[in-house]
Amino acid sequence: MKIIMLGAPGAGKGTQAKMIAEKYQIPHISTGDIFRANIKNGTELGAEAKKYMDQGLLVPDELTVRILLDRVAQEDCAGGYVLDGFPRNIPQAQVLDEALEKLGEKIDMCIDVDVPDENIVRRMSGRRACLKCGATYHLEHIPPRQEGVCDTCGSGLVLREDDKPETVQNRLKVYHEQTQPLIEFYSAKGVLKTVDGTMDVQDVFSAIVGLLG
Ligand code: ADP
Ligand code: ADP
Ligand code: ZN
Repeated sequence: MKIIMLGAPGAGKGTQAKMIAEKYQIPHISTGDIFRANIKNGTELGAEAKKYMDQGLLVPDELTVRILLDRVAQEDCAGGYVLDGFPRNIPQAQVLDEALEKLGEKIDMCIDVDVPDENIVRRMSGRRACLKCGATYHLEHIPPRQEGVCDTCGSGLVLREDDKPETVQNRLKVYHEQTQPLIEFYSAKGVLKTVDGTMDVQDVFSAIVGLLG
């Protein structure tokens, strides 16, 4: 099963993608997590990506596409995967399509997690992230067991640099201009499903499981 999670920044794509990955035993692939891991490890790729991420802009396609195609070519992806944060514009979607077509494969479902802009800024300012294992929490909605500490790996939690309100506005703009057109793109392919992302985490997940079967 090859699944794409679509949605605005902070819509809950990552939260749901992790739950899908666990239930269906497929890898969760987040381009944002890959970039953040590279920044944390001080790689050249990380330094390049950071320049864009800090401004709320997309990392150039050339770089992003190479990383994603390398990742999905790995052995653990043979049985499918859930993509979170890729594709983010039409050219990325086209490259992915062509790569899959060459292998005789296709995307089975694109799930749009729908959350209005009004809710997004609140979600982002409350988000706390573990940069070590990629887990995310929310100060009010999904607090960690111990304040400021990751339940999963015990590392310290941070407010991401790009989750500050100034940058969130830019990211929303980029989302509407570049990413939202993918709803039409996948709808035209007949694989688009929409879930109401304003519900509780568990209710959103139940809706997704209902779609995936
Ligand atoms: P969110 O889901 O909260 O928007 P992500 O972790 O998916 O956050 O992305 C954080 C940042 O990483 C983006 O704002 C962008 O700079 C970069 N990024 C992630 N995925 C992509 C992608 N597919 N193409 C270009 N840039 C990306
Ligand atoms: P995305 O990957 O789309 O950027 P996340 O999964 O990181 O979004 O979620 C953004 C923030 O909102 C996080 O702080 C997360 O804990 C919280 N969150 C996720 N899903 C929900 C939900 N259904 N209701 C309330 N808060 C949520
Ligand atoms: Zn952690």
